[in-house]
Amino acid sequence: MTRIHSLMTGPAPLLGENPGRRETRDDYWRAGGYRDLSPDVLFNRVNAAGLRGRGGAGFPAAAKLRAVRASGAVPVVVANGAEGEPGSAKDRWLMRARPHLVLDGMLRAVDMTRAACCYVYVADDEAADSMGRALAEREPVVPTRIVRPEPTYVAGEETAAVRRINGGPALPTAKPPRPFEAGVDGAPTLVANVETLARIALLATRSQIPDSLLLTVSGRGLEPELVEAPVGTSVQALAYRADRLDTPGVLMGGVFGGILDPRRLATALEPAALDAAGSALGCGAVHFLAPGECPVALAADGLVWLAGESSRQCGVCVSGTTALARTMTSVVAGTAEPDDLARLGRWSQSLRRRGACGLLDAAANLAASVLRTFGPLVETHLDGGCPGCAADRTPDADRFRVEPPTVRTTSHPVSAPR
Ligand code: SF4
Repeated sequence: MTRIHSLMTGPAPLLGENPGRRETRDDYWRAGGYRDLSPDVLFNRVNAAGLRGRGGAGFPAAAKLRAVRASGAVPVVVANGAEGEPGSAKDRWLMRARPHLVLDGMLRAVDMTRAACCYVYVADDEAADSMGRALAEREPVVPTRIVRPEPTYVAGEETAAVRRINGGPALPTAKPPRPFEAGVDGAPTLVANVETLARIALLATRSQIPDSLLLTVSGRGLEPELVEAPVGTSVQALAYRADRLDTPGVLMGGVFGGILDPRRLATALEPAALDAAGSALGCGAVHFLAPGECPVALAADGLVWLAGESSRQCGVCVSGTTALARTMTSVVAGTAEPDDLARLGRWSQSLRRRGACGLLDAAANLAASVLRTFGPLVETHLDGGCPGCAADRTPDADRFRVEPPTVRTTSHPVSAPR
């Protein structure tokens, strides 16, 4: 069962007062939500706070809002809660436990962009049900629809969301145009991650909120944990809490941040420090290897998972992810040749920025991080000399599945919207 924990010194703005129970509209109102605030004042707060998107790419939220607002056409807003990243459960928890925080943020994004309609884009049944109830509890001022993609990695990509809402499959399309230029029904479209929207709603309640991260911490043999921590918390602090200070590596950002060198556990969880360590926070999923587990086997599992999630639209992605997964798996099995390592090295560079979405980049990053950080260990595999893999060569791409913490629901009668 996934637990919940705060590392904040004061209140945890996203976890809130009672993270194990679904917040009703009245709870949210009592806590200061849904209060009037000029959209211009809020936009200035979002800009001043330097809020970045929390879905993975980390694009500045104010720049995205500004681009949609400046388009001159009537925009559309999409709350993106598809959450297909491996090892991540935070977005599903947010929608299950704090649907009004997400809804408030979405409606404020509508206000700031002067949008005509909005969509809640959510794959998870319980999260969709919770958001549906929130919409019944507080009817939005613009037409709002819930759209349900299949729960896949690529479904959460912003062009895939637009394509699905437009009636097609939840698969990425080539860019440009990006959704802010031409998205749902051709209108400029703000596709914003649900945690980003929740943070916008928090900024509407006060000009400054504690700068925190919502993280999903997992690993084989660990009880997964949803953690709210101050920005700048070290990976080591999470490892200490998980009793994994002796971890042989940490898979960061779902898979997008690659595998962090265990000698760099002191790295702070903030963009510049992670970048200097060759890593990234992405969606905030942090996966600790257990002592004795092999980082090369973890990379092989990640590459197999990514190859299985490819939407198979770009030839280079189909062949690239398959080749990376197959070759890394043969390294783990002790059947690879030295030429295979050279090929992995070449592909990990040449495949970057070649696909229509970030999946192929994620695969290339993961392979590159293993070769860069664990080079001697990778070579040890050529003659079957890795003790971790010799003990357990069972591929396990399911290791990245994490369920959100349990959320209790109390039913209150739904009264008229305020
Ligand atoms: S890069 Fe891969 S996952 Fe992305 S659109 Fe192309 S085929 Fe699909």
